[in-house]
Amino acid sequence: MNFNELGLKQEILTAIAEMGFVEPSEIQAEVIPYLLNETGDVVGLAQTGTGKTAAFGLPILQTIDTKSKHTQALILSPTRELCMQIATEMSKYASGMHGVHIVAVYGGEDIRKQLKELDTTPQILVATPGRLIDLMERKKVHLENIQYLILDEADEMLNMGFLDDINTILEKTPEARRTLLFSATMPNEIAKIAMNYMKNPVEISVGKKNEAAKNVEHYYVLTKQSTRYEVLKRLLDYYPDIYGIVFCRTRQETKDVAEKLMVDGYNADALHGDLSQAQRDSVMNKFRLRALQILVATDVAARGLDVNDLTHVIHYNLPDDRETYTHRSGRTGRVNKSGISIALVTPREKGAIKPIERVINHPFNQMEIPSGGMVCQKQLYYMVEKMQSLEPDKKLERYMPDVVELLKNMDRDDIIRRFIALQFNQLLEYYHNSTDLNASVQQEIKSSRDSKSRGSKGSRRGAGIDDEPKKSRRQMRVVDKGDTLRLKINRGRKDGFEPKRLLGLINDVTGDKSIKIGDIDISPKFTFFDVDKKCVKQLMQAFASSPRAKGFIIGEVKGNR
Ligand code: AMP
Repeated sequence: MNFNELGLKQEILTAIAEMGFVEPSEIQAEVIPYLLNETGDVVGLAQTGTGKTAAFGLPILQTIDTKSKHTQALILSPTRELCMQIATEMSKYASGMHGVHIVAVYGGEDIRKQLKELDTTPQILVATPGRLIDLMERKKVHLENIQYLILDEADEMLNMGFLDDINTILEKTPEARRTLLFSATMPNEIAKIAMNYMKNPVEISVGKKNEAAKNVEHYYVLTKQSTRYEVLKRLLDYYPDIYGIVFCRTRQETKDVAEKLMVDGYNADALHGDLSQAQRDSVMNKFRLRALQILVATDVAARGLDVNDLTHVIHYNLPDDRETYTHRSGRTGRVNKSGISIALVTPREKGAIKPIERVINHPFNQMEIPSGGMVCQKQLYYMVEKMQSLEPDKKLERYMPDVVELLKNMDRDDIIRRFIALQFNQLLEYYHNSTDLNASVQQEIKSSRDSKSRGSKGSRRGAGIDDEPKKSRRQMRVVDKGDTLRLKINRGRKDGFEPKRLLGLINDVTGDKSIKIGDIDISPKFTFFDVDKKCVKQLMQAFASSPRAKGFIIGEVKGNR
């Protein structure tokens, strides 16, 4: 199909041609004609990278009244970065049109600047739900003329605790609006929003429900807990032209892995919530520009990142929930590209693969950990290929006669060998006699089986959180409510806080995983939780003194259970 067949006007066609779009993506081919020719709502099941911004953005631009000073389209999106990306992308599509005004408002930025921008009344407003509510309360946004309401990455917005805000916003926009909901996955809460607030929506799906991108190959690699990092390095060495994200489960793990990689000479950096906004922007920019080859990231921090052509996604640890896996692996294999997703799992964690296969509707294959020899061979071929495609600098010519003269007594093979050695000796040295990591994990599986068959339950190392069964990981109920005290912390749903993050934070700050935490209740601005009385002092002291607790305030909730 061709963009000309979709019914878009010339200014828009010219702009997207300038952006290099040749043919519409699957979702664009379905959604654009529907929005232009019909009147109904749309539920679009599509991940980022499928071209959905243009799918809703182009028809909006085509139909808004650019002479009007009313806000006619509202796009809700989960993060600051996504808001900015959508606004930038829409501005590019509108580059040939006159009088289009697009404003993005999001949390974590000085509100006064945004208030000023709103004074000019944009026709298209892109917003995070929390900041929009704030601006609505200040009566600075006017939603009574909204014709299009877009819920972008709806599942992510719910994950971040924006459900109440979304419901409030939906109530405050005119009923006659058209509502478009885009989501990579379809949990029940999303179906409920569609049922309550949308009028006979058509469901347009790219791939099946909850399915990971079709052109992604999914692999798992069996590793021992103790060799996880070594396995990661082996994989990175095996893919010398990798451009990918290594997902970790906690901030601390992200920092540790990134730091080790940097020390070991990889072109890597970390992206996590402990960085300031400016630091995060800088890392994301470097990665976007490919000045950085490997990004080590937490799921939350990577949410705002829009990079379209990752070669690999590596799960240093699998996420707790399967939907997160879909999001992670969907970052590779985007618009017409193929990608590889590799999960590092211990034999104990292997059971987590089957349920993910069911959700993504795709099988995993086991990948053997490449041997040292395989890595060297791959790197060597890569270097030869690079050398063949290299255009030598003309400035070299003036030195050539001298160099040829100097080498005249060496034969061709010897010259090649020595030049390769210049690059490769270090790698060869490193991988000479390197351990067979596959054999070492097989050995562990065997000894675990042997010990089980001897009637023992197998050894239980207390090491990483990933060695522990998920449910009992910390969120265990303290036996008797009378033994607990209720505390509160100054983070809530609006900050994207969730039980997992609270538990991770307590792990990080105290460095002690045995502190018992009971019920956790999250309100928009605070989180309340029960703690074993015996541990309260330790917890408070850790929060008062640890640099990791910077910005967090915890206190006792007096007389209130
Ligand atoms: P999105 O899913 O909207 O985040 O888009 C992902 C990326 O694909 C963006 O960088 C778009 O500029 C790009 N893109 C969108 N539509 C097309 C298309 N039809 N052809 C090529 N690239 C596209």
